Amino acid sequence: LTKEAPRDIQRVSKDTVNKILSAQVILNIGIAVKELIENSVDACSTVIDIKIKEHGKEGFEVSDNGLGILEENFQGITAKHHTSKLKDFTDLQNIKTFGFRGEALSSLCGLCDVTITTRHSSSEYGTKLVYNNDGDITEKSIIARNIGTSVIVSDFFKTLPVRKAEFQKNYKKDFNKMIKLLEEYCLVLVGVKIIAVNVLKNGSRQTILSTNGKSVSDNIVSIFGGKQSQEVIKIKCPTNDGTEDGMYTQESLFDADISEIKTNEIDSLNQKRFKIEGYISNIDHQCGRTLKDRQFLYINSRPCEMKAISKLVNEIYQRYNMKKYPFFFINLKVEQSNVDVNLSKDKRQVAICDDKVLLLVMKRSLSITFGDLPTKFKYASIN
Ligand code: ADP
Ligand code: MG
Repeated sequence: LTKEAPRDIQRVSKDTVNKILSAQVILNIGIAVKELIENSVDACSTVIDIKIKEHGKEGFEVSDNGLGILEENFQGITAKHHTSKLKDFTDLQNIKTFGFRGEALSSLCGLCDVTITTRHSSSEYGTKLVYNNDGDITEKSIIARNIGTSVIVSDFFKTLPVRKAEFQKNYKKDFNKMIKLLEEYCLVLVGVKIIAVNVLKNGSRQTILSTNGKSVSDNIVSIFGGKQSQEVIKIKCPTNDGTEDGMYTQESLFDADISEIKTNEIDSLNQKRFKIEGYISNIDHQCGRTLKDRQFLYINSRPCEMKAISKLVNEIYQRYNMKKYPFFFINLKVEQSNVDVNLSKDKRQVAICDDKVLLLVMKRSLSITFGDLPTKFKYASIN
């Protein structure tokens, strides 16, 4: 780098800011599709159709039967930081929708070609809208369609040449990453039927996955098959809300071996703050997997990453079943005001109050689920 005298500080143009921000929101095709699924769910859809074209290389479409979009919002939906889901910062404490930042559609417009067709429940006809890279409508026509919305994205990353070239080379890798994201969303969504297909140039359609959304256990069968679902058991979570004071402080409780802790001590710390719903592979030797590819963690049904929880679950599982990793679907139910989901652009990083207590509740739940955790002696005899 050559040293230059500092230049005047200038304000970056709005267009440039938008482009920089868009490029940070939509990192890959999986994230793009995930954002559209989130929008469909937020619009109360009960059916979502996902069509990936040529493994994503030719774009994708997400169609739903949700509420549709009101004519007065046709322009606003693709404007940066325009959202129907949040008005001020305090709303974020109670947010029930996936979206809240109003960035997905504007970012997609900034990076790709976007067409939306929609019909609001109050309208007798549908509208087709074509947007340019500034998010402005360039074409508008009346069409026939059912109530709901379809977002059609093509020429992915057209405004980011480096990323586009990379994507065109590695689109199959991206496609595989997208499948994991699709699985993650489709597993947890109850009340929504989802079908995702990959359509090839020759017209053939490969089903990527399809769920009926009746229940999580049905979704497990639909996505991973009956064999997987037979191997999983429901996680039991203590519901006891005893209030006796324990002899351990929170810190020492955390370090102690679970077998030394009186269960009511954890419960008194927890006081129903955390509930755990989910499924995990049972501990038979045949069960479990050699990869961690079927592990799904959620907070209040929002997919997220919490390394400490995943690590704990794997460690406990391996006390019973060495060298194997469990399938798990774990949905942590936490008072919304105790969670901060605004840590990262992809909303996957979360902060939780009292996360140490959560780890304890997790430990305790697994111990009830599997029976007493093996002591070191039992652990050695597993071989
Ligand atoms: P956010 O989801 O954070 O609000 P988005 O850019 O994803 O931001 O969407 C902008 C707005 O467009 C949403 O707030 C919603 O009002 C509308 N919208 C997007 N997708 C749909 C959809 N599938 N059905 C109905 N409305 C939608
Ligand atoms: Mg959104």
